[in-house]
Amino acid sequence: MLLDQSVIAGSGNIYTDEALFIAGVRPTRRAGKVTRAECDAIAEATRAVMLRSIETGGSSISDYVAPDGSDGGYQDERRVYSRTGQPCVDCGALVKRVVVGQRSSHYCPKCQR
Ligand SMILES: [Zn+2]
Repeated sequence: MLLDQSVIAGSGNIYTDEALFIAGVRPTRRAGKVTRAECDAIAEATRAVMLRSIETGGSSISDYVAPDGSDGGYQDERRVYSRTGQPCVDCGALVKRVVVGQRSSHYCPKCQR
């Protein structure tokens, strides 16, 4: 649901993965099983992740290039996105990748429930 542009415009794979990590919610959790408090945490985390990305100049992992042609700086701060098999920055568990709705999602199996 978080990647459905008719629900939330502008939140792609990277920001959604990062926001879910901060909120502690697994990408495989059904929208109907997310608590109100978790919804608030996801919304707050999405805003924080997007603001931080703007501050650091965007994400160049997939397609973003700054107006001057340089790469964005946000990808250096990724916690889970495209870090499959690497240790979680918080707990050290290996980051996993799963396909949700034909999109790749990345999460920590210990930090996200
Ligand atoms: Zn973790």
